[in-house]
Parts: sequence; C-alpha cells; structure tokens
Amino acid sequence: MTARTGRHFLQIPGPTNVPDRILRAIDNPTIDHRGPTFAELGREVLAGIKTIFVTDNPVVIFPTSGTGAWEAALVNTLSAGDAVLLCETGHFSNLWREMAGRLGLNVETLDGDWRHGADPASVEEALRQDGGRRIKAVMVVHNETSTGVTSNIPAIRQAIDNAGHPALLMVDVISSLGSIDYRHDAWGVDVTVGGSQKGLMLPPGLSFNAVSDKALAAAETGGMPRSVLDWRPMLDAGKNGFFPYTPSTNLLYGLREAIAMLHEEGLEAVFARHARHAEATRIAVRGWGLETLCQSPNEHSNALTAVVMPNGSGADDFRKRVLSAFDMSLGAGLGRMTDRIFRIGHLGSFNDLMLAGTLAGVDMGLQLADVPHTRGGLDQALSFLAKTSAEAGA
Ligand code: PLP
Repeated sequence: MTARTGRHFLQIPGPTNVPDRILRAIDNPTIDHRGPTFAELGREVLAGIKTIFVTDNPVVIFPTSGTGAWEAALVNTLSAGDAVLLCETGHFSNLWREMAGRLGLNVETLDGDWRHGADPASVEEALRQDGGRRIKAVMVVHNETSTGVTSNIPAIRQAIDNAGHPALLMVDVISSLGSIDYRHDAWGVDVTVGGSQKGLMLPPGLSFNAVSDKALAAAETGGMPRSVLDWRPMLDAGKNGFFPYTPSTNLLYGLREAIAMLHEEGLEAVFARHARHAEATRIAVRGWGLETLCQSPNEHSNALTAVVMPNGSGADDFRKRVLSAFDMSLGAGLGRMTDRIFRIGHLGSFNDLMLAGTLAGVDMGLQLADVPHTRGGLDQALSFLAKTSAEAGA
C-alpha cells in the first residue's frame, strides 16, 4: 500500500469528518454509567439533543447506527399487519420499506423516480382513498442520501391534515439533522429518526427517535414485541439522566461537544453554511457540463450532491481513480444508481477550503479518468465562494 501523507478527504455523505474537538472529547476515561457523574452527562445530552430536533418532547438515544432507530420507530408504534404508506425517494426509503415488510407491516408504496422528493399530492390522494383508516403511518426520508434530494416535510404534514387522516408521520433525518433546517414539533412529526455520523459530526454508533405525544400514546398501548429498542425503559431511566443498559459513554461525550459546537455557530448559520457550499458545488457541476441527479430546483439537498456520469463513463472507476490519485473518498451510486452517479458529501464539519479541495479533487479526477466534461466548473465555484465569503460581505 502506498504511504499517505496529510489528511484523507472523507467526502462521502456520511460518516463525515470528525472534528478534533469531538475526537478530544471522546478521548476521555469511560466512567461508571450508574454513577452521579454520568447522570450529569446523561441529563445534558438528553436535554441538548432536543434543541437539535427542535422539540420539547423526549428524544431517545440508542447505541446503534441509524438502522436501529428506523426499527425502533416502527416496533414501538405499529403492530404486525398494520398498513403503512411509504414515499419512495431512493435507496434509503427502499431499505426502510424492506425493513417494514420484514417486520410484518403491509407497505403501500408511492413510487418515485429518484430524481424528485416525496409528492404531497399523492400522499393526500392515497390517504383520502383510505376510508377505512387502515394506514397507520406515513414514512418519508427528509434528505435522501442516495440521490441528493430533500423532501418538503411541512407539505407532507399538510397533505395528511388536508385528508383529515390520523396516520402517524415518521421522518428519517439521518442525513439532514444538523445540516438542513428541521423542526420536529413545529412540523407536526410523530417520530423523527436521526443518526450521529453525518451533520452531528460524530462517529457512527448513536441514533435517535424524537417522539410526539401521539407516538408515545401509541407506544403505551400498542407496538410490537420489543426489548432493546423499547422506548419505555429508555424514557423512564432518562428522567434521571440514565440508560436502562450500558450506553455508549464516550460517544455521549462527543455528542455533548457536538451540540455545543452547533450552538456556538448557531443553527441558522450552520444551515446557511451548508446551503452556500451546496450552491457552490452545483455551480461546479453545471460548469463541468454535468447533471445533478436531482431535477427539482427547490429540492436540491444542501448536504450532498449526486452527479450523473455522462454516457459511457463508469462512476465507480472514476471514484477509484480519485481515491488512488488524491486520497479522497466520494460516495458511490447505490441500488439502481450503482456506477451511474457519484455523490459529493459537503456536510458536517466543513469549510470553504475543504470544499475547494474536494471540488479540485473531482476536477482533477474528471481529467484523469477522461470523463467528457467542459473546463471551468472549479473556477466558477471558487469565484462564488470568494464573492459570498464573510469577508466579501463585510
Ligand atoms: N437513512 C438514511 C437517509 C441514510 O443516509 C442512512 C445511512 O447512510 C440510513 C438511513 C441507514 O443508517 P445507518 O447506516 O446509520 O444504519
């Protein structure tokens, strides 16, 4: 293996770069998770994480990756045989659908083309057709990480309300939390599913369920047989800052630091930074004469950009060349997009020069791999960054 110098560029759309401050926070002695010092940490993170989901209700923290929190959302609120309505937006919506099927739920899918977000009109229509109120939940991925398309959650909420339907609204924010504006309470979401390894800038290993009163009531009286993912013992122990079984103590140190960092910058500023970097990336893509997978101007993701390879060029070969030549990891196309797109992650702990380096790596890779493109994309993106920098605005 070739010796590498400098920092690897981890520009997949999560896991993202873990900033030094968080690494230092994690690098502390593990403590007694039933002792008083832990209770202080537990109380701090359980209160702090609510400010990121923008909720006054509890948020449950699981020692699993996001997939565990997907399952927790379903098993705490639904029973085998219940119907659920899933908006297909890409690979991750489809994985969630498969999980729901494996748990015995009856999944009705609103098909999508992977280039647009969830369609509120179709949700409203499907719920209006459901006179018998068989559908117990609507499942949507807010930011579809496999396509770079963000769905309009308030519009989905409105669609459910327009239909006067009692279904729970479940939203996956695994790749939008801490990167793209999201409000659990104000948007009327019943279960929000988050993960640690993207906008929260942490390593993989923690996941979250923010829950509404309606979801809590559903969990009290129903749900599937469950144990490790049961909200109830989590919520009970959490009142005193504890967990019912051994928590990921060191990741919780990191979470405390991540929450502090997001508030030092300010959530509005965090979202604006992501929006500006996403815009710069799209300018580069247009300048290269390439196409983004997302086709709706108002649904572009601010966390990542999926780029369609021109005919005849394989995305996986391109990514391999970039990794080998410049030590940068780009996201692969997933599912039906395998080898057809590559994904640029621009979320988490990130700044202008990191984006400039990322886009330079893509630009050099396009040349190296003989991918048909026009020159100038990188320059245009850099000019945009210069023109819109804090200094230029001062
Ligand atoms: N949902 C979305 C939108 C994701 O991006 C991912 C992972 O990237 C998942 C779910 C699955 O989460 P995990 O891989 O953390 O289990």
